[in-house]
Amino acid sequence: MALTKEHITDALSAVTHPSGEDLVSRGCVMNIAVCDEHASVRICMTQGFPDQAQPERDQLTKIGAVIDSMIRSAAKEQGIESLGLVVDFVDHQGEVVMKLKGDQKGVLKDKNPKDDPNTPTPQNSAATGVPGVKHIIAVGAGKGGVGKSTVAVNLAIGLARKGHSVGVLDGDIYGPSFPTMLGLHSMEQVVLEGALQPFMAHGVKSITMGKLVDAEKPLIWRGPMAHGAFTQLIERTQWGELDYLIIDLPPGTGDVPLTLAQSVQLTGAVVVCTPQKVAQDDAVRASAMFESLGVEVLGVVENMSFFIGDEGKEYDIFGRGGAQTMAQRLNHPFLGAIPINMALRTNSDGGKPTHNFDPATAGGEALPKALAGIVDQLEAQVMLASMGKGSSKPTLTVS
Ligand code: ADP
Repeated sequence: MALTKEHITDALSAVTHPSGEDLVSRGCVMNIAVCDEHASVRICMTQGFPDQAQPERDQLTKIGAVIDSMIRSAAKEQGIESLGLVVDFVDHQGEVVMKLKGDQKGVLKDKNPKDDPNTPTPQNSAATGVPGVKHIIAVGAGKGGVGKSTVAVNLAIGLARKGHSVGVLDGDIYGPSFPTMLGLHSMEQVVLEGALQPFMAHGVKSITMGKLVDAEKPLIWRGPMAHGAFTQLIERTQWGELDYLIIDLPPGTGDVPLTLAQSVQLTGAVVVCTPQKVAQDDAVRASAMFESLGVEVLGVVENMSFFIGDEGKEYDIFGRGGAQTMAQRLNHPFLGAIPINMALRTNSDGGKPTHNFDPATAGGEALPKALAGIVDQLEAQVMLASMGKGSSKPTLTVS
């Protein structure tokens, strides 16, 4: 048994719009994302009637409560007792006018800090920060192979190149790639008085399970063991003072990435996606996972966006712009697009990530320019999230 979009559509068709029609017949349902015990819906009350006034906030809250109750009972019928639920009310241009987040106990709360600057960011009660670390950012993806680790490493290097102190944690504990990507193979893991000392390479501190276990052995860890290993990596590492700690999460939206995203107090998350429709569907699920945990999605990166041939011609192999459109649809900031680039792959395999920032070793200007733009956008979104303005997600362009 599993909760599906169809179950949620049925539930929404039992919710009445002030016009007397139900939400589904009136065309108010703009998007439904569902992943295991997490769901998010986007509702436009004025869809098809742009001149009609938005309902008052009180009225939206009441409609939200009915939506919540209908979806929760649909979830219960599927054996899901505690559902993480996000209800976004948007205007006909897609701007969020009200965001309601239901915690696992089923209390739907207005989480729009624009109206209440004192509203705390919803966080899992078990989540902890890391002493001395200002911002913790998770990098997630709906599935493997889309370039999540590549983006995590390059974000870290890019932020460090701008003068920030940065750490990067290989949370992909089943398939750690940092020893290769950061060229850590010849280095030894140092432990001082029980504390793991992060590696210092390319201007960033890093830690990876790949240096603590036998690289040849499969890591067959069940959820709680994976969780334990991950929290030890975070808590037992002597990070020192950091402006940013970037966490490369395991791929997907299963139990492990979900628990890991929940176990540390995040400033927000970056979702990496390739342009194809199938990849977008996975990224929507990843985004729904973060949202239902109360984690702000700071933005979407479109990786493998296009390919630049020798003659300088650009080829949209996977359908350039797909992830950007998805980001717009979900009202997430779009941080930028990274082209398919052979130098990026060889620099990663060769443990030389800083080469991606120099046109001479990055196959031209396109890659360094793309990475720098993404880093600038991320900095801006972190700043906005820290100011408590994140849930309306305006996109800043920094030039
Ligand atoms: P994930 O963490 O999502 O599994 P990785 O970051 O490990 O994915 O990337 C998978 C492979 O694709 C790696 O070999 C990486 O170097 C390569 N890769 C990622 N992004 C690009 C890109 N834009 N151009 C060329 N190769 C890429």
